[in-house]
Amino acid sequence: MNNEELWKSALGEIELSISKANFITWFKNTYIISNSQRKVVIGVPNGFAKEWLENKYNSYIIKALRNLQEDILEISCVITSDTEAKRQVDSVVSLSADGPLPAQKMPQIRQNPTINPRYTFENFVIGGSNELARAACYAVSQSLGTVYNPLFIYGGVGLGKTHLLQSIGNEIIKSDPAKKIIYTTSEKFTSEFVNSIEAGRINEFKDRYRQVDLMIIDDVQFLSGKEKTQEEFFHLFNTLYQNNKQIVLSSDRPPRSIATIEERLRSRFEGGMIADVGRPELETRIAILKNKAEEKGFSIEEPVLNYVASNVTHNIRELEGALNKLIAHCQLQDIEPNLETAEAALSELILSAKKPITHKQIVEFVGEYFNINPEDIISQGRKSKVVKPRQIAMYLIREELSASYPSIGEYFGGRDHTTAIHAYEKVKTELKNNNSLLEDIKRIKTQIEQL
Ligand code: ADP
Ligand code: MG
Repeated sequence: MNNEELWKSALGEIELSISKANFITWFKNTYIISNSQRKVVIGVPNGFAKEWLENKYNSYIIKALRNLQEDILEISCVITSDTEAKRQVDSVVSLSADGPLPAQKMPQIRQNPTINPRYTFENFVIGGSNELARAACYAVSQSLGTVYNPLFIYGGVGLGKTHLLQSIGNEIIKSDPAKKIIYTTSEKFTSEFVNSIEAGRINEFKDRYRQVDLMIIDDVQFLSGKEKTQEEFFHLFNTLYQNNKQIVLSSDRPPRSIATIEERLRSRFEGGMIADVGRPELETRIAILKNKAEEKGFSIEEPVLNYVASNVTHNIRELEGALNKLIAHCQLQDIEPNLETAEAALSELILSAKKPITHKQIVEFVGEYFNINPEDIISQGRKSKVVKPRQIAMYLIREELSASYPSIGEYFGGRDHTTAIHAYEKVKTELKNNNSLLEDIKRIKTQIEQL
């Protein structure tokens, strides 16, 4: 009897002695890795299964194995990669023939390493700035591939995009664990794609993505300028879309503002539902703080929450950082969080948040937004690629810092002040009837304000 036959027969016995729910939960994707010196090593998909098999089901397994091979002494489990286990389990008929179990009966085990159980709809606080995006994500999670496809969520850093995208994944894991989900970032997607070409495994890569029921790609703005990856992504998109598979995307800006992205891909992104997440209002920030504090087992009084939420306004990641700092401060000194301790703990953080913005920072933001070098913006170069961003940078410096025209000219490589005036006026006039420019400037301003 080889390992495969041995395990198949053993599973047949075990199946009779424990409940079906438990059997599928704990024995799915397991197989015998080795059987030597009276010791059987079982491959399992995760740490939970290892713990359960080694402790709770140890005696069942040994008994079943001994019925087949008398001299077996002991078993142990090792966690192995998903794919290997799947290949094996397909041969265990009794397992693959069963459909998924009702979710509530299944102990939660995480089979999908790309979905973080920390991010759920339950712990996502709804406010005016995110309710549309949240509703769209929730609707998608209730009906994959049919309501909004693709769903495109955009907004600034730390405003909850990843949280929402991951919540969809968690919701599906809960309601329909058989569904295949991939969550990845566009950067990871790109590097996987490149690596798979180099390793001669492009077909494996393609197959893996084409099998999914739900594909979530976070931060698609980083596909900008990566032509080959975009090409591959376009085909993948079409295949999934045609098969009514759900696609969810996020970005720090709307599709039409993603520079150097192929037109056909842009129009695909725009073909479904687009929703943005904005900066949360004070009430939402307070509610989020309250939730996060409770999650950590802390109860913090309203005035303290109010103080933190009023002073940390840019994004939720920063808000969480402030809360962590406050908690650490209080734990370290063994004191209760009150207004005084909050002020002491956060003074530095709040002060640094209020540092004045510089010319340099604005140029850097503009450069980052248009994907060009800040030095080229300041330089004398006249390429059209840099002329527009340069004018926008001058405009923003004037608007945001109220800088004088001569100082702007001076900063941009010693140009005359009339150049700065011209740039400012030009952008200002164009803004009146150029919506895409308006959007660009709004986005960059948001970035600047987040400083
Ligand atoms: P983004 O992907 O937009 O940069 P994230 O989703 O990573 O932002 O959010 C940053 C942090 O803020 C995460 O820890 C997330 O859980 C938290 N967060 C964001 N929005 C909310 C919300 N509405 N309710 C609760 N937590 C939130
Ligand atoms: Mg994110």
